[in-house]
Amino acid sequence: MVNTYKDKPRFGLQMSKRSQIESINSLVKNCKKCDLWKTRNNAVPGNGSMDTKILFVGEAPGYNEDLQGLPFVGKAGKILDELLQKVGIKREEIYIANILKCRPPGNRNPLRSEIETCTPYLNKQIEIIQPEVIIPLGSFAASYIFEKFGLKFEKISIIHGRVYTANTLYGKIKLIPMYHPAVATYNPNTLQTLVEDFKSLEKTLNKS
Ligand code: URA
Ligand code: SF4
Repeated sequence: MVNTYKDKPRFGLQMSKRSQIESINSLVKNCKKCDLWKTRNNAVPGNGSMDTKILFVGEAPGYNEDLQGLPFVGKAGKILDELLQKVGIKREEIYIANILKCRPPGNRNPLRSEIETCTPYLNKQIEIIQPEVIIPLGSFAASYIFEKFGLKFEKISIIHGRVYTANTLYGKIKLIPMYHPAVATYNPNTLQTLVEDFKSLEKTLNKS
């Protein structure tokens, strides 16, 4: 069993963390900063524990996430849940957010301009939650997170499962990029790789 929580902050701090997250959520829900608002049913700000050590960063909402306004509730979410279960982490113990908060039509790739416009929300979420480990899922999330922390992004096929260290204003954190679980819905080799990479996450958490 791994400890996924940070030491609890004082009550006052906790309240302000919650209100900061709530304010991001409502900004995202009402956002019209890029054209994706026109085709969305619901924006998906993210959810989970604000006191977690672990932040997962996906790419963008898909069909089911757009309908429910929640991250990773479709097929990829089911795989993510299974992977978490294998290493004894509960979904409610982590935080999950995406690079883009609104679904690109037909699940097309995010545009560079959309990533630029939307990621200030993710940056704010990182500032508030201050995770000790960030797990970007898939190439788009990994390349954004690597660039943000000044690391050189190589192909996801090279960097997946490795533990990288990054500097933040609140101290050193770990980055563990992984394949996107959606790939595992049609590729069993990727599923096996994800299982192994989750073991690397478990080891890292047990050391921290
Ligand atoms: N894929 C993602 O990248 N994010 C989600 O929330 C769902 C599927
Ligand atoms: Fe706003 Fe991001 Fe949605 Fe674009 S994708 S409308 S920037 S929340």
